[in-house]
Amino acid sequence: MARPDLEALQLERLNALLARVYANVPTYRAKFDQAGVAPVVSGLEGLADLPFTVKDDLRQAYPYGMFAVPQSEIVRVHSSSGTTGQITVVGYTAADISNWADLMARTIASAGGTADDIVQIAYGYGLFTGGLGAHYGAERLGATAIPISGGNTKRQVQVLKDFGTTILACTPSYALLIGETATEMGIDIRELPIRAGIFGAEPWSESMRTQIEEILGLKAIDIYGLSEVMGPGVAAECTEQHGLHVNEDHFIIEILDPETLRPVPDGEQGEVVFTTITKQGIPLVRYRTRDISRIVTGECACGRTFRRMERITGRTDDMLIIRGVNVYPSQIEQVLVGIPGVAPHYQVVLSKRGSMDHVEVHVEVGHDVSFDEVKTLERLRNRVAAEIASSLAVNLAVKLVEPKSIQRSEGKAKRVVDLRNEGSE
Ligand SMILES: [Zn+2]
Repeated sequence: MARPDLEALQLERLNALLARVYANVPTYRAKFDQAGVAPVVSGLEGLADLPFTVKDDLRQAYPYGMFAVPQSEIVRVHSSSGTTGQITVVGYTAADISNWADLMARTIASAGGTADDIVQIAYGYGLFTGGLGAHYGAERLGATAIPISGGNTKRQVQVLKDFGTTILACTPSYALLIGETATEMGIDIRELPIRAGIFGAEPWSESMRTQIEEILGLKAIDIYGLSEVMGPGVAAECTEQHGLHVNEDHFIIEILDPETLRPVPDGEQGEVVFTTITKQGIPLVRYRTRDISRIVTGECACGRTFRRMERITGRTDDMLIIRGVNVYPSQIEQVLVGIPGVAPHYQVVLSKRGSMDHVEVHVEVGHDVSFDEVKTLERLRNRVAAEIASSLAVNLAVKLVEPKSIQRSEGKAKRVVDLRNEGSE
């Protein structure tokens, strides 16, 4: 779609959205009235003057207070995971579910998927949006969906092999676990028909992509979405693997300076904010995701014209400030993957020593490193600490731990363990 046509469509849909939320959602009516702005804009730049929506708005409206249609029109609810507090509930009309299926079909297609593919969906089914989102998308595309859900990793590997899976959908950390498990079972996934993976729901690094592609022998595609905004299907990489095309006919993206909340120029990093211009059930105006990204400038070699966002590099609320330096856990992962002898499994453990915060990175050593060789371990530990110091500009204590001792995740990996309120060292 040509840019001016897209923008005309966005503007029309935006104004319809604003009228809808002002008329039907008390939270929005109050926000607009309080800000003294009318629920109408004459151009897309007018978006910048409208009030934000934050997760707390959804929490306060729990469970249904921000729905914009009568309950009779809601055909399904999902919720956010609640990892950072009370869960939030999102509702979908039949039209929302249909749009979502289209968007996920588009996502699988942009990873190279077609009706001929067999898609193993190892995202959790249930209130989490990942499983059913990918499921409806695969079916809408005409592909074959395997609704295996998350967990039972040995069975995942067996199904992957026996059912001739060609596309795997799960979190990137779970893809790695599936790869490790297959190796333990004596199965080489690289020899199976699988050729692509659509991985999302947690931030991951370029080096982790390399690792997944090597172990599983597939093309690893980054996808993005969040339950408040829709679920998976908000943005996805194409096979160029250079930025995620945002589905701009359904979502307007803004990248804002997290301090001033003003838009930053394209190419600069900031907080991602979405306005859902087609959603009926629970539409959101300028929803602050807390995710950090930037717009990838220039045209994509694939020919798609939707703008791209860079992979998520962190979250404003995941960001650790260590001795004045901003550190995102994903930066640590990036460092680890480049060091032979350590596995990309790590946790950042925060504790109190006296009144001071103490940060220790726990890193698993690889299977080929013996835990008895004290000198080897010491060298490895020093190297990890030195590389973290040089790329993050901060010194962190590093502790090497035995293979498999860091808990594996079948969903989102837990990267930061905060013991500061537990009185432990
Ligand atoms: Zn592209």
